[in-house]
Parts: sequence; C-alpha cells; structure tokens
Amino acid sequence: MNSYDVIVIGVGGMGSSACYHLSKRGYRVLGLEQFNLGHHFGSSHGETRMIRRAYFEHSNYIPLLNRAYELWKDLETESKQSIFIPCGLVIYADPKTSAVYQGTLKSAQKYKIELKKWDRPTAIKKFPIYLPAENQRALFEPEAGLLHVERAVLTHTSVAKQFGAQILENVKVLDYEILNSCVKVRTNQGVFEAAKLVVTSGPWSGALLKELGLPLKLHRLYQHWFKASPKHRLENAVPCFAFHSDEDFYYGFPMLDGKTIKIASHFSRETLLNPSEKDALVIPEEKIDAVRNFIKKSLPLVTTDLDRISSCIYTMTPDEHFIIDTHPEINSLVFAAGFSGHGFKFSSVTGEILADLTLEGKTKYPIDFLSLKRF
Ligand SMILES: Cc1cc2nc3c(=O)[nH]c(=O)nc-3n(C[C@H](O)[C@H](O)[C@H](O)COP(=O)(O)OP(=O)(O)OC[C@H]3O[C@@H](n4cnc5c(N)ncnc54)[C@H](O)[C@@H]3O)c2cc1C
Repeated sequence: MNSYDVIVIGVGGMGSSACYHLSKRGYRVLGLEQFNLGHHFGSSHGETRMIRRAYFEHSNYIPLLNRAYELWKDLETESKQSIFIPCGLVIYADPKTSAVYQGTLKSAQKYKIELKKWDRPTAIKKFPIYLPAENQRALFEPEAGLLHVERAVLTHTSVAKQFGAQILENVKVLDYEILNSCVKVRTNQGVFEAAKLVVTSGPWSGALLKELGLPLKLHRLYQHWFKASPKHRLENAVPCFAFHSDEDFYYGFPMLDGKTIKIASHFSRETLLNPSEKDALVIPEEKIDAVRNFIKKSLPLVTTDLDRISSCIYTMTPDEHFIIDTHPEINSLVFAAGFSGHGFKFSSVTGEILADLTLEGKTKYPIDFLSLKRF
C-alpha cells in the first residue's frame, strides 16, 4: 500500500495547481491523472486562455483574480517559464444592450481597474485589425491577456514534482472509500492511501462525486485556428479581442505561430451526456460557417481558411459560478468543479484555496458564493 498525506484526483487545470500548492507546503502529495498531462480530452487544452480582471460575470470574483494574477507571476518566477502574456483585451459591444459591456464597466469602476472607453472611430484607429459594428463601442483592459494553457498545467506539475509531489499519468481512479482515519483510492493500477482527498476531475466530476448529485451539465465548444495576416502577430502589440452581441459572443487571441489566430464562440455549443462523446461526435459544418461569417464582418485581415479545430468541454453549473467546497459530510474530502467555461484564469488561486481547505479546513479567500449549499 502506497501512503500519502493528500491524493489529488485529476491533474488538469485545477488539480495541477492543487498538487503545486500542497507540495509547496511540505505535504506528501500524489496526483493521479487518467491521461497524459496536458491532454486534449477535457477542458485545459488549445494553447491559450484569456485572463482579465474587470469581471462582467460578477465582481465577487475580483479578490480571487487579484490573487490569481500574483500566483501566475510567482509560478513564472519559480519555473522561469513564460505563462502569462499581458497583451491586453479589447471588448466590442453595444453599451446600451450588452451585459458584458455593462458588467465589465461596473466591475472596473467598483475595483478601480484600468479600463479605457473608446467610441467606434477611436477603437478602429487603435486596432485597425478589428472592425466593430456601427452600434458597437470598445472597452480596453491593458492588464488583461492570455495564459499558455498546457504550459501552465505542465509547469504547475513540474514545480510540484520539485517540491516532492508524485504525479502518475495514465492512472484512472475507479472509486474511493472514506474510512475513519484515511481514504483509500482504487485505480486501474492499484490502491493508494492518504489522510485527505482532493477531487479536481473537471468534466468527470459528476461521476466521481456521484453521491453529491452535483448539478453539472457538459457542453462541447470549439476552438478554431484560421489563417491570418502577420499584422495579427503578438509582437505587433496586438491584444486579445471579444465581440459581444445578442446573437453571439466571439473571442480570439493574437497570432502565436506566425500563420493563424485562434477564434472561438462562447455561445455555440452542444450538450454532451459524458466526456467521451466530445471526440466521438462530428462537428457540424454550419458551426464553422458561422465563424466564417463573423470573420467576414469583423476581422478584415483574417481569411476564412480553417487550419485546424479542437473541441473542448465546459462543465456548467445552473448559475454559471464555480463550486469549491468541502464535502458536506466528509471533511477529509474537498473538491472544485463546475468551472462553467471561465475557470482557467483562476486555477492558480483555486489550487491555493483547495490546499487551505484540505490542510486548515478554511480559507481566507471570500468563496461563500461558490459553496455547494447554494443549490
Ligand atoms: C473552449 C474553451 C475555452 C475556454 N476559455 C477560457 C478562457 O479564456 N479563460 C478561462 O479562464 N477559462 C476558459 N475556459 C474554461 C477553463 O478552461 C476550464 O474552466 C478549466 O480548464 C477547467 O479545469 P478543470 O481542472 O476543472 O478540468 P480539466 O482541466 O479537464 O481537468 C480534469 C482532469 O481530471 C482528470 N480525471 C477525471 N477523472 C479522472 C479519473 N477517474 N482518474 C484520473 N483522472 C481523472 C481528467 O483526465 C482531467 O485531466 C475555457 C474552456 C473551454 C472548453
């Protein structure tokens, strides 16, 4: 029997960070991952994720974001890897009708986050590669940017290993048993034992935490890379972009590979019954055509020539806020799930919160709004 202080089930975005924070505090940690680290079967792949502080989803997230930013910097310093690129984010929307525009502005005002407001001519002059519609105005957040997503997962795990964590890839957890003094985790490669358990199994959380009946739904989303002019290169001080309207919410990133930019829609999605359906179902051609139509309207220097596509899973809660909590009956089990398509930027701080809950039974961060009790 292999024995540890803490076992982390699922070493993706959140689990890699939990392994890092737990091992950094000197605990003997085992991370169990059913695939290779940085795989493309769950939610943490596709090269990039956006990070922004003027949070339209709810200003409750901003204290967590402030800490997330600090922790990304710490990880970069410790690992000497570049993970966060502060290239900025420009959002185009109709100020009168767009909840994204209004929420971003409100959060920035409340927390004094730097945000520039531009009329349409100014917006076009600032970034001529993006073309807002007649009714759209722009908000520019200079301290927003992108995170290298797979690199973040791999860096959290490699630094965790330096702190003594053991991370096992291609080990699938079948089930676990909570005993009086320990937890036993049964896998396809043997049984492991620890004092505490952290479950960060992303789209597989509903199955692994079945007894909690988590209100999670899985959605499949697409990330597309279209060929574009070199004017989109990150080196040309190009920011991330988002275009919000009633019909859709497209967003994308500067060019990182010298030939394509990544574009995705936040609205265009399909329900999945389980994570394995993600790669089994064909991607409908009309979904890709809708992105081409968006490009024709809004991105004059991007072609409609699709270079590659990758699907990815959102694990949605009913209110689209995360669930980070201790099991209501078992205080040796903490979990984080339901990141509802906007969680990656928080993974650095989520690992810290999970370490707090596991080791101290509480955290100083304001996470009451993310408790399971609200459902
Ligand atoms: C297309 C797309 C775009 C997004 N854009 C953004 C963005 O711009 N900004 C942002 O902040 N967020 C964004 N998100 C959301 C963000 O990526 C997710 O919230 C985050 O990656 C979720 O991380 P996770 O750790 O919960 O899940 P995952 O990273 O999927 O990790 C769960 C891990 O658990 C493992 N696992 C599950 N079951 C078992 C088992 N039984 N045994 C062993 N291992 C197991 C899985 O293999 C997996 O590696 C986006 C998501 C998608 C899909």
